[in-house]
Amino acid sequence: MPGKLVVGNWKMNGDLRRNDALLADLRVGWPVQAIRQIAVCVPFPYLWQAQAALSGSTIGWGAQTVSEYAHGAHTGEVAAGMIAEFGCRYVIVGHSERRASYGETDEMVAAKSSAALDAGMTPIVCVGESWAEREAGAGDTVVLRQLDAVVSRIGRRIAETVIAYEPVWAIGTGRSATPEQAQAVHEVLRKRLRKHEAAESVSLLYGGSVKAGNAKALFACADIDGGLIGGASLNVDEFLAIAGA
Ligand code: PEP
Repeated sequence: MPGKLVVGNWKMNGDLRRNDALLADLRVGWPVQAIRQIAVCVPFPYLWQAQAALSGSTIGWGAQTVSEYAHGAHTGEVAAGMIAEFGCRYVIVGHSERRASYGETDEMVAAKSSAALDAGMTPIVCVGESWAEREAGAGDTVVLRQLDAVVSRIGRRIAETVIAYEPVWAIGTGRSATPEQAQAVHEVLRKRLRKHEAAESVSLLYGGSVKAGNAKALFACADIDGGLIGGASLNVDEFLAIAGA
């Protein structure tokens, strides 16, 4: 059975004072015996802060992207080995904001997944179609192309990843996919993972305008193992309500 997981993506938000409060409240508010795992993916400068605040708890932490290179002349980039030194369990790769704004290609996302695994972390690989692609009936083709690109690079290690289905049209828009729409795509992804003997080990997360009010219905779907939560993860009460849904 894939693990149940809810991950917060803080995006480019936070400051030292607010993070302190948020991380402390998260630690106090999340029950140790919870069946679901939770984690937060924070901006690079705050990795040390997440590590300090969450070490010894059941809550994981991670980064929001990683370089595909191990070291060298890549000014401004951050290598997987550096991130791993801060105790990170997870790295988000291929978020649609990075694909759209920073030109990340399927091949780059695959290389980043590989780099994260090599450093002992779990890549959370984001896949998702635009509204135009969905309207054109190409949604499944797009997400499978994005998944296959990663599989062709890392092979059987796909079993060690987490996949997040994040329809681009649902991210930060307040317009979540319905449970039926999300489940349909998750089923397609699960089927493809089955072909790679990874269906039972990979957690499939849904992301895109998840709130406390819609989390329960989404997480109740057969192939949805949890969520990747953007905006709502900055509000501890909301995030904890989603994680507990
Ligand atoms: C995200 O950024 O991964 C995300 C799902 O954002 P939001 O929850 O704000 O739609």
